[in-house]
Amino acid sequence: MENNSLSKSQFIRGLQCHKSLWLYKYKPELRTPPDEGQEALFEAGKDIGVLAHGLFPGGVLIEFEGSSFDEKVKQTRELIENGVKTIYEATFRYDNMIVMVDILHKGDEGWEIYEVKGSTEVKDVHLSDLAVQYYTLKGSGLPLSKASLVYINNNYVRHGEIDVNGLFAIAVLTDEASKRQDSVKDELAELRAMLSGEAPDIDIGPHCKDPYECDFMAHCWSHIPECSVFDISRLGNKQYDLYYRGILDFKDIPDDYPLNPKQRMQVEAELTGREFIDLAGIKEFLKTVYYPLCFLDFETINPAVPMFEGRRPYEQIPFQYSLHFIEKEGGELRHYEFLAKEGADPREELVKRLVSDIPPDACVLAYNMGFEKGVLKNLAGAFPAYADKLMNIYDHIKDLMMPFQKKHLYKKEMMGSYSIKYILPALVPELSYKGMEIGNGGEAMNAYATLHLIEDQKEVARIRKALLEYCKLDTLAMVRILEKMEDLVAKGD
Ligand code: SF4
Repeated sequence: MENNSLSKSQFIRGLQCHKSLWLYKYKPELRTPPDEGQEALFEAGKDIGVLAHGLFPGGVLIEFEGSSFDEKVKQTRELIENGVKTIYEATFRYDNMIVMVDILHKGDEGWEIYEVKGSTEVKDVHLSDLAVQYYTLKGSGLPLSKASLVYINNNYVRHGEIDVNGLFAIAVLTDEASKRQDSVKDELAELRAMLSGEAPDIDIGPHCKDPYECDFMAHCWSHIPECSVFDISRLGNKQYDLYYRGILDFKDIPDDYPLNPKQRMQVEAELTGREFIDLAGIKEFLKTVYYPLCFLDFETINPAVPMFEGRRPYEQIPFQYSLHFIEKEGGELRHYEFLAKEGADPREELVKRLVSDIPPDACVLAYNMGFEKGVLKNLAGAFPAYADKLMNIYDHIKDLMMPFQKKHLYKKEMMGSYSIKYILPALVPELSYKGMEIGNGGEAMNAYATLHLIEDQKEVARIRKALLEYCKLDTLAMVRILEKMEDLVAKGD
């Protein structure tokens, strides 16, 4: 694409931050390339787009590969002239804006634009997206009757094959897109003027993450030290208030600056190295823990398009668990695990194994139990024959995160967080997620979701091993964290 042309995504980038667009055009080497997770999301988005073609079947696709934008524009024009009623990726250029319309369909009253998103609601950025398409198509002389957003209907439940008319919801936003036409024109003029000059002088701000996390943050945020006001837990936009006042280091935060007690604790721990230990709070929690004792962690996938019968979009589907188990006080630590075979519904086999691995009425510790409870409840609904056993586990879950959320135990290495990814290195530095091939839930999800596509069985075995190691560490971490808490109490008594 020539440098003075703008694509729709570049226009949206420029709306978020002029500097981001300028850097994208002139200093692309400063951009952080998408990681595996972002690539996976991008691919999932493409799949959703293709599925949405089923709303208007029989259309003609303008292939992305193999032709220039000018050729795509020409192909689109020819298809329209030849009476084709539905075109996927129809391409238009006007005022040096180039847009590709996900679905262009000729309705009874004129041409209709359908922009497809994997979101479950209409957002303001979608309106800008539609408005610039409307501007370009209208300017190209196409009589438009409708501009709509196609998004995921999260009330849809899969029965049999995917019903695209149930999976997708359509919001007709013609008026909203039409009302934004003057502002699109003005914004385009502003962006062009900006691009003809030097890099705009724009400081970092909330716009760096809204509506999207900017891929130039590594560049623009390079002056922010590793530990700064941006690491204070739940400070929201007050972070920028401090930053714009020239305050970055904890030591420069005025004593009377309005921070809540947990935030003050974080600042004090960072500055003095002091550890905060509320023994009574820890004891209170430990009193609720009993034997047999289980440590449970699920890994899940949450596909936009439900993969299995009776499931909804984005529902968490467990495919793996790790379980550490101690039958009685001082007893041996045992480990159980389950990782479903790829490509099939993992749930029933997982349920059978889980209810046989966890004895009735056992105390079950999870870290951030809302997640595990949600998974168990969904499983109980889906497999009534096991509902009693699953709900028994549900009823006996306790949250190991709670003492850390309540700051009964706080050290500066926790960086204001109560995520296990911070708590573990602070309390049990000898155990670490660092260097693991799969080191977080997002990576585990992506690895499992693509496993069935890999033909090389050695590679499949390697990834499965990495998944098992990661999930095992999650529950072993909980075991060791609990031990640390018990040690602290024993020493304090
Ligand atoms: S990181 Fe922030 S300031 Fe820098 S280009 Fe991106 S949005 Fe703009």
